[in-house]
Amino acid sequence: MVINLISDTVTRPTPGMLRAMWAAEVGDDVFREDPTVNALEEKCAAVFGHEAALFCPSGTMTNQIALKVHTRPLDEVICDEMSHIYQYEVGGYAFHSGIAVNLLKGENGILDAKMVEAAVRPRFDWLPKSSLVVIENTCNKGGGSIYTLETIRSIRAVCRKHGLALHLDGARLFNALVETGDSPESIGAEADSISLCLSKGLGAPVGSVLTGSRSFIAEARRVRKVMGGGMRQAGYLAAAGIYALDHHVERLRDDHAHARMLASALAGLPYAANIRPVQTNIVIFDLLPPLTPATFLEFLSKNGIKASAFGPQTIRFVTHLDVSREMAVQVTGVLQKWGG
Ligand SMILES: *Cc1c(COP(=O)(O)O)cnc(C)c1O
Repeated sequence: MVINLISDTVTRPTPGMLRAMWAAEVGDDVFREDPTVNALEEKCAAVFGHEAALFCPSGTMTNQIALKVHTRPLDEVICDEMSHIYQYEVGGYAFHSGIAVNLLKGENGILDAKMVEAAVRPRFDWLPKSSLVVIENTCNKGGGSIYTLETIRSIRAVCRKHGLALHLDGARLFNALVETGDSPESIGAEADSISLCLSKGLGAPVGSVLTGSRSFIAEARRVRKVMGGGMRQAGYLAAAGIYALDHHVERLRDDHAHARMLASALAGLPYAANIRPVQTNIVIFDLLPPLTPATFLEFLSKNGIKASAFGPQTIRFVTHLDVSREMAVQVTGVLQKWGG
C-alpha cells in the first residue's frame, strides 16, 4: 500500500464516517432546508462561540468570502507572505475583492502585534486603506507553525485600536488547539471570522466552514451564492464534517507524533538540512545539493512513498488519518536507506 505524505487532504472517509453520510437527513440547503447542514453550522458556531456559520465546498471559498465581506475595493489586507490567501488562492483577493495585499515576513509564517501595527497605513487619499488582518493557524508553508493565544490576543488588540477586522484562516486550527490546549472559544473570542477545513486532518472528503457574527454570515451566504457555492443536498457532506468533529480531533495528536518521528529521523541524515521546527503534522526540510527533489521523490516513490516538492530544494511531508504508526516507522526506514 502506498504511503501518501503529499497532504492531509488525501484521506478517504472511514467506514464510520461513510455510515454517518449514508444515514444523513437532507434537504435543499439553498432554501436552508437541509437539517444536517444546519446542524453542522450550528455546531461550528457554538464551538467557537460565534453567532453563525456557513458550510462551503472549500477552504479557498471560505477565505475568499471572508476577504470579500470584510473589505471594500481599494482596501488592503495585512498578512504573512507565506499565507495561503496570498500563495495558493490564485490571487483571488484581487480578482474577487479588488483589494491590495501588504505582505509581512513573520517567523515561519507567524506574525506578531508589533509587525502588524507597523503595517497599518495612515489614512491618506493616495494609500490603500488597511481594513483586515489575516492570520493562519497553523501556518502551512511555515511548517505547521502555531500561534500562541497571547500573540493572537495582542494582534487583536492592534486590530481593535485601528478599526481592522481579524480573520483567522484556521484550515488546521484543531491541529494547533490539541497541542496548545487552548479552548476553541478562547480563539473564537479573538477572531471576527474563522475558516475551518473539514477536509484536511479532520478527514472529511469535502468541505470547510466559515464562522462569524449573524450579519457577517448573512452577507457571506450571498457571496457564497454568487461564487457558485450554494449546494443542494449538501447534508451528506455535512454529516461527514459532524462525524469528523466528533471523532477525529483528539487523534490529531497521533499525526503530530508521527511527524516528529519523521523529523527526528531526518535530523540524523547527511542529505537533509534546515528541518523546520515541527509543531504539528507538517515536516518541511531542504535537500543538500547535489540531491534534488526530483531524484529524492523518485527514490521515495520506488519505496512506496508519495511526497511533494515544496520549493526548488525543499520537501514537505504531511501526516494524517491514513498514515499509521507502522507506516511512519516504515518511512523512517526508507529515509535511512538513501545513499546507504
Ligand atoms: C488547504 C488550506 C486552505 C483551503 O484549501 P482548499 O483546498 O481550498 O479547501 C486554506 N488555508 C490553508 C492554510 C490551507 O492549508
